[in-house]
Amino acid sequence: MIDFSEAREWMVVWQIAARGICDSNVLSAMRHVPREEFVAEHLRESAYDDSPLPIASHQTISQPSIVAQMIEAAELGPRDRVLDIGTGSGYAAAIAAAIVAHVDSVERDPVLASTARKTLARLGISNVTVHLGDGTVGLGAYAPYDAIIAGAGGPRIPRAWRLQLSVGGRIVMPVGREPYHQRLIKLVRYSEHDYHERSLGEVSFVPLVGEDGWPDH
Ligand code: SAH
Repeated sequence: MIDFSEAREWMVVWQIAARGICDSNVLSAMRHVPREEFVAEHLRESAYDDSPLPIASHQTISQPSIVAQMIEAAELGPRDRVLDIGTGSGYAAAIAAAIVAHVDSVERDPVLASTARKTLARLGISNVTVHLGDGTVGLGAYAPYDAIIAGAGGPRIPRAWRLQLSVGGRIVMPVGREPYHQRLIKLVRYSEHDYHERSLGEVSFVPLVGEDGWPDH
């Protein structure tokens, strides 16, 4: 039987901090959220390997070091409101929620949305709302957001996300011309019409499927 808290601490030291993640909010969130609760029973002993793991509907829970890199790049603070696209297991939303005031998380797959809601409730995480729908159109009713993070890669940053970002807000999203191969892009909104964008390196996420993403085949 694995001691999960020991495995989690090992992950934070050797897979997260060792890769240069130094935001203390991110490190403490990774120490706090039990990743083993977000995967199927038979995968629990692999929960602290630094790799994506399969969840339902042919999707994956992202690799912990990439989640940490994305959340650090999003520069989250305690008063922030965050939009998380692609709830999947709910793990990235839970990490963000350990730092910020509230997370709206959008998932297009009803089975994943429902499982994630149950997992978050079981863990007593009450500042995440899981919405069922196409996240490429954002969530206009609750905008603006201080940060928008995406656990799925699209061909471009959806137009709605730029508009739903507060001035000073950050988008961190995988963008690429191929559905499974992207560059992690960080976009900052400096003013009403002034956005700045840069690449944080190559990544491989599942496709963002929707109106302003990849088509659903
Ligand atoms: N951050 C998640 C990663 C899940 S994988 C985690 O920690 O587990 C990406 C998820 O994005 C999948 O569940 C997929 O169904 C979802 N997805 C893809 N396109 C989407 C869209 N347009 N809107 C909402 N969710 C989407």
